[in-house]
Amino acid sequence: MADLNIPTAPALDGTRHLHSGKVRDLYEVTGGEHEGCLLMVASDRISAFDFVLDTPIPDKGEILTRMSLWWFAQLADLVPNHLVSLDVPAAVRGRGVVCERLEMFPVECVARGYLTGSGLLDYRATGEVCGIALPDGLEDGSRLPEPVFTPATKAELGDHDENVSYDAVERQVGADTARRLRELTLAVYARGEQVARERGIILADTKLEFGRRPDGTIVLADEVLTPDSSRFWPADRWQPGRAQPSYDKQIVRNWLLSPESGWDRAAGGPPPALPPEVVERTRARYVEAYELLTGESW
Ligand code: ATP
Ligand code: MG
Repeated sequence: MADLNIPTAPALDGTRHLHSGKVRDLYEVTGGEHEGCLLMVASDRISAFDFVLDTPIPDKGEILTRMSLWWFAQLADLVPNHLVSLDVPAAVRGRGVVCERLEMFPVECVARGYLTGSGLLDYRATGEVCGIALPDGLEDGSRLPEPVFTPATKAELGDHDENVSYDAVERQVGADTARRLRELTLAVYARGEQVARERGIILADTKLEFGRRPDGTIVLADEVLTPDSSRFWPADRWQPGRAQPSYDKQIVRNWLLSPESGWDRAAGGPPPALPPEVVERTRARYVEAYELLTGESW
């Protein structure tokens, strides 16, 4: 496993730190009204090429948290979500949410309406994605005949998720739950795709995580329809057959791969710090995505 360069999460009163991922810190609430709930905090960290960069993007945690909250509300008639309260310690206000502690399904529930990324790689190798046969002649960025459920197994920190077949999900969670996860994932994608399209944005794909309440109810958890969990492309610049411009860390990736960064990716060392101009353009990109999608100004 690579050294991920994740800073130690700050201690927060009334909580116990559980886990830090590349971008988020997870705490358990240890007292008060929400005892036993989770506190999920989105940091300003940004990852690229599986490294957490040394340079944070100011406001990224808050922008993505607010976007997730907005989407949870848009989706509330389709699926219950894990949100409990926004009453969080002052140090993480705006980017922390108190949520129900669920038993998470060990499946990354991905829906794709367009072909790119790992889906494209699988298609080029086998003509299929997650056991679903796709038509010949598709390119990077092609729209699929219909959106597909392409689950992946959750990898250990620092490893890549692995695309798996629907049958594998059935074996893992049972046929009824697998069917429900697929249904919900495609319903959330359809809603997200429609909302985004009305605002001139293509939702190419998205990754959802679901968990279960003690009473068996399936609940939408984690973050939802953010640029960290989804690919958003400006619709007016969509052109299959190449990589699409996107509302995420593309600016960072492009800079890191450019000669200016001086980074030798193949050598395996960590990427250099980002220059202020790249940080500012990346921040502006997240703000633009937030404003376009939600219609609210930042
Ligand atoms: P990375 O995203 O960097 O690959 P990660 O997925 O381990 O790593 P995060 O995404 O930062 O880390 O952490 C969020 C973690 O919290 C995930 O493991 C996710 O499954 C879990 N999680 C999200 N919502 C809930 C919930 N309501 N109940 C229990 N666990 C949850
Ligand atoms: Mg995660």
